[in-house]
Amino acid sequence: MIKVAINGYGTIGKRVADAVAAQKDMKVIGVSKTRPNAEAFVAKQRGYPLYIADLSKKAAFEKAGLKVAGSVEDMCKAADIIVDATPGDVGATNKPLYENLGKKALWQGGEDHEVAGFSFNSSCNYKDAIGRQFVRVVSCNTTGLCRIINEIDKEFGVTHVHAIMVRRGSDPGEIKKGPIDAIVLDPVTVPSHHGPDVLSVLPHISITTMAMIVPTTMMHMHAIQMTTKKPVTRDRVIGLINRHPRLGLIKKTAGLKSTAELKEFAMDLGRQRSDLWENCIFEDSIYANGNELCFFQAIHQEADVVVENVDAIRAMMAGEKDAATSIAATNAALHFTTIQNNH
Ligand code: NAD
Repeated sequence: MIKVAINGYGTIGKRVADAVAAQKDMKVIGVSKTRPNAEAFVAKQRGYPLYIADLSKKAAFEKAGLKVAGSVEDMCKAADIIVDATPGDVGATNKPLYENLGKKALWQGGEDHEVAGFSFNSSCNYKDAIGRQFVRVVSCNTTGLCRIINEIDKEFGVTHVHAIMVRRGSDPGEIKKGPIDAIVLDPVTVPSHHGPDVLSVLPHISITTMAMIVPTTMMHMHAIQMTTKKPVTRDRVIGLINRHPRLGLIKKTAGLKSTAELKEFAMDLGRQRSDLWENCIFEDSIYANGNELCFFQAIHQEADVVVENVDAIRAMMAGEKDAATSIAATNAALHFTTIQNNH
């Protein structure tokens, strides 16, 4: 059993904890919070020992009926590996703690590549993560881009990628973030950070990205255009998507053309937290003409990196040498089959 600690039990951390707890070869030995809130009560309900970043707040937790198992340092000592899911840029400040304890740790996409020196995506570079002490799982958008670009590149060779990211303004629970009535260019300059971030996983790819933020909480939408070395056909692209364990195809028959309907479908399917762990590529948007390929894909920002974290843990702990076997085990434990198998 791999003993996993989750430092930062928020949007990503709570999902990673549940995904880890579902695996046969892993165990959650603790999660950490900074203050007693609803998520802390969820941790208690799930039976995850609760550790706190600041022990001076112990009384506040206990007054709220939340037993404190110890400090974040105590939690890290008890773990084989730490998933750092604290907010962006906070994670890097925890590195000395993991280093001093000689523990393995993985960070999220809010940190720079340099924090770990290795950026991870299960489908692209699992083998290179085997045995590593430090890994960074790339962001939700980069995960979605890497998965599909890598498949198209292996099959047809990618000459160049243009991707436009229409990003959600905030996660559903983030009441203080916006915008509530604007389309914000984020950044105004081109390229956005997503293109360079893809290169941290797939350094040989030529890519230009642009990004904006819109008033929605549900998902991101990517408009992607690629030029390929070999001519590309729609049927072969659909075949690739159908064979990949984390590429979803929204079939024409589902009649879905928005993130809202997609999330409704995920809720109706009974997915935990209505999470969509796969890229959601709209079948009807796939356009292939000679060496040009275009499509839309929706990315559930809270979910796609969760399954990647589980595979990263397995690779770093050398629990499984083969990417496909790890991905299959992760998916099976979550009863996750890509969305095209459900309609
Ligand atoms: P979040 O704010 O929802 O959760 C962070 C948690 O960490 C909170 O529970 C907070 O209380 C806790 N925390 C804060 N400081 C801490 C500290 N010093 N020690 C221990 N815990 C601390 O954040 P999130 O959205 O889950 O993001 C976490 C990371 O995942 C970031 O790097 C982010 O960029 C990345 N990420 C987020 C998303 C997303 O859409 N939310 C998607 C992919 C990657």
